[in-house]
Amino acid sequence: MVAAHVHGVGNALAAGWRVLERGGSALDAVEEAVVIMEDDETFDAGRGSFLNRDGKVQLDALIMDGATLRAGGVGCVEHLRNPVRAARKILSESPHVYFVGEGAEKFAALHGLPLCKNEELIIPREVERLREYQTRIPTSGAKNAPEMGHPTDGELFAGAADDPTTSVDTVGAVALDRNGDIAAATSTGGTLNKAPGRLGDSSLIGCGCYADNLSAAASTTGWGEPIMKLVLAKWTADRISAGNLPEWAAQEAMNYLKQRLNGHGGIIVLSPEGHFGIAHNTPRMAWAYRTVKHQNAGIERDTL
Ligand code: ASP
Repeated sequence: MVAAHVHGVGNALAAGWRVLERGGSALDAVEEAVVIMEDDETFDAGRGSFLNRDGKVQLDALIMDGATLRAGGVGCVEHLRNPVRAARKILSESPHVYFVGEGAEKFAALHGLPLCKNEELIIPREVERLREYQTRIPTSGAKNAPEMGHPTDGELFAGAADDPTTSVDTVGAVALDRNGDIAAATSTGGTLNKAPGRLGDSSLIGCGCYADNLSAAASTTGWGEPIMKLVLAKWTADRISAGNLPEWAAQEAMNYLKQRLNGHGGIIVLSPEGHFGIAHNTPRMAWAYRTVKHQNAGIERDTL
């Protein structure tokens, strides 16, 4: 899985770079990068995502344009292979910012995106993972299990560190184009065994994704409930508009997440000046970047 993750982010980087290289926008670049990772079953986005308590895939995504502050988000969609494409349609073609569930799917279909069966998004690895999880924690599959406060809810990401079968793989991208505009996109299947209808941080503006040319573009991953309570992507962007470097702000965001709410996750953040930060307080998070002069990728915390 480690090699698959590094390979997957490399492919996403190449797709985003192709857009930028031919003079395309940061917005198009993050969309194309995220589509590649949604299509890659390695990640918790699109096909291959974690299953919710009822054994279904429910997806959330957000895309945001730092130049205009336009944004598009979808939540709890079950019939879209590429929720980021639907999010982009909302950004470009709707006066609204958010669509959820059936309304989001109808909007996507009306704008030419194909709908699929939920089963097409489910892979055997995830059926087995959910089965194993629900066997290990018998009440977690119960229809009347508490939505929050369940003993394992808070443990999910913390526990992931010791459990090689639990991988938490929301995908995200940030980009800066030759016009000096920045953009961000995030896409996820959320957390394993989540309650149906649960929305994570990923598609919430300022939580799992944010972009403003006056501060920064950011995308986060991790246990969503703490991240959304701290509005972490915007919190980080604010540190950058106050004059701090993205590298420092990304690390500070992870410290804040841990100290304030014992949260676990990761962040990528990019300023309009082209400075960037990558940080995570989990043992691993696959990342890759490219600039005109450099290219690099990694996954272990100590190689950052
Ligand atoms: N942040 C996502 C969520 O809570 C999960 C993840 O990043 O893996 O929905």
